[in-house]
Amino acid sequence: MIHAPNLKELPDIEHGFGTKVEEVWLTENGHAWLKQIHSSNVLRSRQGGLQGEADAIVTTSPELWISIRTADCLPILLADPGARVVAAVHAGWRGTVDEIAAKTVHEMVQLGAELSSIQAAIGPGIGYCCFEVGPEVSAHFGAEGRTCVDLAEANERQLLDAGLELENIWVSKYCTRCNADQFHSFRRDGEKSGRMVSAIRMV
Ligand SMILES: [Zn+2]
Repeated sequence: MIHAPNLKELPDIEHGFGTKVEEVWLTENGHAWLKQIHSSNVLRSRQGGLQGEADAIVTTSPELWISIRTADCLPILLADPGARVVAAVHAGWRGTVDEIAAKTVHEMVQLGAELSSIQAAIGPGIGYCCFEVGPEVSAHFGAEGRTCVDLAEANERQLLDAGLELENIWVSKYCTRCNADQFHSFRRDGEKSGRMVSAIRMV
């Protein structure tokens, strides 16, 4: 399990980015999850269970774990402990293009979060080294032809544009495809790939 230093030091916040070898332990009770569809839908959650079709969850409910599952896509966890708002985001290239991270920040602000207080952590996903895409995808990222795309950098920029402070954003340096002993990777393992669960809650 990987902990972002900036989230780990927050009062009353628990979180983890699960790996292949160390999973985030969650029960069905007190745990909200999504049917992920590579959208930019953000849902508010008040209780456990399947919340619906979306790719980000925001909650103000104490004790409620909110989780997302990934294998190359980016898991992004956010918190404003003062306003008592937390969020979990699944950002693949489609969600990134549709600005799901920024939409999640806006939803947090609707619930009382302050931009200058939000801490964000971008967990392990496919790195620039391995995320080669065709022209139909690269065009969305301001590039041409077959090239590599840096999803983490795109999401970091999006969080900055949404109003977060640079020092309040932590970015994992791990590439899920490069590190087979630690991470599942859809690109590397295909349909048989497992998924990693990342989650956050307030206590
Ligand atoms: Zn790589």
